[in-house]
Amino acid sequence: MIRTSLRRGLRKRCPHCGKGPLFSGWSHFERCSVCGLVYAPNPGDTWAFTVFGDRLPIGAMIVVIYFGVVQSHRALGLTMLGVLAVVLVWTAPNRWGVGIALHYLSRVFWPDPADRIPPVPTIDVDT
Ligand SMILES: [Zn+2]
Repeated sequence: MIRTSLRRGLRKRCPHCGKGPLFSGWSHFERCSVCGLVYAPNPGDTWAFTVFGDRLPIGAMIVVIYFGVVQSHRALGLTMLGVLAVVLVWTAPNRWGVGIALHYLSRVFWPDPADRIPPVPTIDVDT
């Protein structure tokens, strides 16, 4: 269930039903168009998951490359930073989808009565 949700997030699909898209172009939907799940009912929660699952590891990578490689091999280090930047921009929607999936899992495991998660549609659910 955890791996399924994360995989759906990585594929930019709703972590709940796996059917609805998270994005239209570069902007994301408020809720799933298939099952009605609200992706980020409390923006502050998603922000925390984004920081811990996304920004901290990236920051660590940049620090490691900068202090570990740029200091000794300048051209190589700067190339690695450039490649990293391209990869980060390229995968931004996927990483954001994983953040939504992580947040969704926390809502499933620690339910909030005020935050209703819709029933999963029974139509041929793609796992
Ligand atoms: Zn959905």
